[in-house]
Amino acid sequence: MTDAARRDELAASLAQVRERIARACVAAGRAPDEVALVAVTKTYPASDVVLLAGLGVTDVGESRDQEAAPKAAEARAAGATPRWHFIGQLQRNKVRSVAGYAGVIESVDSVRLVTALENAVAGRPEQLEVLIQVSIDGDSSRGGAAGDDLWRISDAVAATTALRLGGVMAVAPRDWEPDRAFEQLAVLAAQLAGKHPGATTISAGMSGDLEAAVRHGATHVRIGTSLLGMRNLLR
Ligand SMILES: *Cc1c(COP(=O)(O)O)cnc(C)c1O
Repeated sequence: MTDAARRDELAASLAQVRERIARACVAAGRAPDEVALVAVTKTYPASDVVLLAGLGVTDVGESRDQEAAPKAAEARAAGATPRWHFIGQLQRNKVRSVAGYAGVIESVDSVRLVTALENAVAGRPEQLEVLIQVSIDGDSSRGGAAGDDLWRISDAVAATTALRLGGVMAVAPRDWEPDRAFEQLAVLAAQLAGKHPGATTISAGMSGDLEAAVRHGATHVRIGTSLLGMRNLLR
């Protein structure tokens, strides 16, 4: 496909996604500008990031450092410097690399990770924003903090000077109704914001369940498939 054809394709799907978000906001009695779009570009090339940035997308999400680090460098070389959100399981040995390009790390789910991030960005003039990934069903095998870990991790972030606690991120568990999952997330997010007034971000909702997430207060939706197309799972 030519660049121009891909640009048209992305422009059309971006318009559809923005329309879905706007409708979901209206249905929920919220203003459309209360919900930010994070374009999840995993498995898609840097050229798509460049095209999306040209179409006005300001935030992109990636889940693997091996893929994201060179992609961010390539996009930057082509003049695209969106805010990169790291949304995948993060290993401590990747923290330094991820902190080199990410503006937000959405998948912080342990105190050990907080310490590693703090060390990686110590001395920077600006704080690095982190979200705590919550495991809604308490099964942390797919990532996410369960139970009281949320409070331990959030207190650890708040105690640093290098990191800023932005809020929470979650993925609805596969076998749950999205509404039930996001309703529960909203309760935790409200408790967190009660303890840490700056922690107002709720990153929830993907291509299949963004409407439910917006109903329950999502401030960020992370959209891949509906924007870029079906991912080839073999890649
Ligand atoms: C891949 C991914 C998304 C995007 O999912 P789609 O269903 O393609 O919109 C959102 N959040 C996380 C954590 C992901 O890994």
